[in-house]
Amino acid sequence: MTDTPRVTVWNEYRHEQNERRPAEVYPAGIHGALADALREGGVAQVGTATLDEPHNGLPDEVLEATDVLLWWGHIAHDEVADEVVERVHRRVLGGMGLVVLHSGHFSRVFKSLMGTTCDLKWRHGDRERLWVVAPGHPIAEGLGEYIDLGEEEMYGEHFDVPPPDELVFVSWFGGGEVFRSGLCYRRGRGRIFYFRPGHEENPSYYDPDVRRVINNAVRWAAPSPGPEPTRGNTEPLE
Ligand code: ZN
Repeated sequence: MTDTPRVTVWNEYRHEQNERRPAEVYPAGIHGALADALREGGVAQVGTATLDEPHNGLPDEVLEATDVLLWWGHIAHDEVADEVVERVHRRVLGGMGLVVLHSGHFSRVFKSLMGTTCDLKWRHGDRERLWVVAPGHPIAEGLGEYIDLGEEEMYGEHFDVPPPDELVFVSWFGGGEVFRSGLCYRRGRGRIFYFRPGHEENPSYYDPDVRRVINNAVRWAAPSPGPEPTRGNTEPLE
């Protein structure tokens, strides 16, 4: 499989180093579990990057060699350097795919691409059922009608994001809330997918269906070749 996208998994990587439960659930870090899921799914080139590395793990040369970037962050969104936020934003407009996971809804990268607060309501220790509401969509390929996750954090509406181009999942929670949990956007040439599960204390990134969705999303978000438009003041065509 040489034509799979080159993927970089970005993770804040603080909970797993500083708290007992996330360290037990994700001993190799959330990025380690996600990278394994992609390698198992046949993605040939998978790298990882974390917040505390130089340039937050995302210097120019890494982003330039990334077709699809995964983003997991939670407690240190403000520590991501302005230049990194700007570079990721620019790369997405230029065609790089972006898959934003769980609490990445509040990342500066996602908020800057959405232009809204991206706020929501939440509660720990619920259970989640993600219904597939776009059964023909490539991101839902290979799934059943829904995915059940026995323990997850609840995210509830209203989720303050722009209406998505395509809605792939709607979640129901034990407490009665619902949430748009799989959303597709285009910004410039780039494709963005937001996928809700993945609280740091719950083992959702080992769930086979969740791993399938992430693999499907990476392939969906990969850049498409095509013409480079000319912009600015131009002469008439011959
Ligand atoms: Zn969480």
